[in-house]
Amino acid sequence: MSTWSENDELFERAQEVIPGGVSSPVRAFGSVGGSPYFVAKAEGPHLWDADGNRYLDLVQSYGAIILGHAHPVVVDAIVSAAADGTSYGAPTEGEVLLAEEIVRRVPSIEKVRLVSSGTEATMSAIRVARGHTKRDKLVKFAGCYHGHADQLLVAGGSGVATLGLPGSAGVTSNQVADTVVAPYNVVPTLDEQTACVIVEPVAANMGLVAPAGGFLEGLRAEGDRVGALLVFDEVITGFRLGNAGAQGRLGVRPDLTCLGKVIGGGVPVGAFGGRADVMDALAPVGPVYQAGTLSGNPLATAGGRAALSLLTDDRFADLEKRAGRFAEQLERQLRDAGLDVRVPSFGTLVGLYFGADLPVDYDGAKRTDEQAYASFFHALLERGVAIAPGAYEVMFPGLAHTDEILDRILDVAADAASSTRA
Ligand SMILES: *Cc1c(COP(=O)(O)O)cnc(C)c1O
Repeated sequence: MSTWSENDELFERAQEVIPGGVSSPVRAFGSVGGSPYFVAKAEGPHLWDADGNRYLDLVQSYGAIILGHAHPVVVDAIVSAAADGTSYGAPTEGEVLLAEEIVRRVPSIEKVRLVSSGTEATMSAIRVARGHTKRDKLVKFAGCYHGHADQLLVAGGSGVATLGLPGSAGVTSNQVADTVVAPYNVVPTLDEQTACVIVEPVAANMGLVAPAGGFLEGLRAEGDRVGALLVFDEVITGFRLGNAGAQGRLGVRPDLTCLGKVIGGGVPVGAFGGRADVMDALAPVGPVYQAGTLSGNPLATAGGRAALSLLTDDRFADLEKRAGRFAEQLERQLRDAGLDVRVPSFGTLVGLYFGADLPVDYDGAKRTDEQAYASFFHALLERGVAIAPGAYEVMFPGLAHTDEILDRILDVAADAASSTRA
């Protein structure tokens, strides 16, 4: 058993001054039990905790990291940007370059605005959709997570699912009065009050749930029928499933797209963009207000551009092959060990579902055996492999997870499976 004293001491100190000891709830290990590791440093596929224990990391900052931790190209870009100042409150060439890169790679994005988190991206995309359409209603899907803005915290995935909450205290009924929740993978009938439909085109916050054939096409057609905008939340899938995101591989063109995670290279960032006529409803061109002191931050744009510079189509294809093979072998091994488990993959994303039948929506996703997940999670962690401390997250193999690294994880997983209680 590894030592854990520094981790525990930090967690005690953290709880004195930070609610629950964490800056984001899932990190506290509430749903898997035990106490969290505190990260001291990370490199490539590895991270080290405060006690010096080393882990093979499949969390990768919940998908913000795709090149592996502390990639030298990204680190150098951030360090050299920092030396020129960390924020100015004035436009920079760096944000123009990142915006040009996003517009070049994602055909549906004609104009883009940079913000500082995925939450801000979805919140602002909805505001501009409402401002453009002059309508109030918003449709979201159960189990999709779009950050923690009030109007979107209903039937959310990720941490909201992990904590078993329907929504959140502190969100008033008025704030969600214009939010309609529909089951994933069923095209809802919209009406002419609907400003927009927001969806994760591949759902990755209720485990991994792929869109059923015709679902996204159906949303596009139904939105067009009533004049509602289609918003893809690609905060995870953008530059994760390929250079044009989920929309590129699935061939459905949204009006607006939300980005985050990968496009900052691990520095806080978000972005939303799409049709120029819609985006031009934003101030200072149009009447929809949206702003940010640190928006377009030079460290974030430097980190993001460095990350994108290494994301070629070839590398995505390669990673996708590795992720697919990893998912297949992991499923086979765990099932051979007697666990009732499914390991779906979609592109480079890998899920982990404790149950016989892959879910197609949130009701199915919630049937995952959370106890079995927790048991497997700890069996892996003791053996030096870190997955997310919540059953509704996915795994993020990246460019640092070579076949050799993935094979090592598979060996550990086979051993961990034999001591997992299901
Ligand atoms: C992570 C995530 C968000 C929120 O992004 P933050 O940067 O955590 O605010 C929004 N949408 C999806 C799909 C996400 O996975």
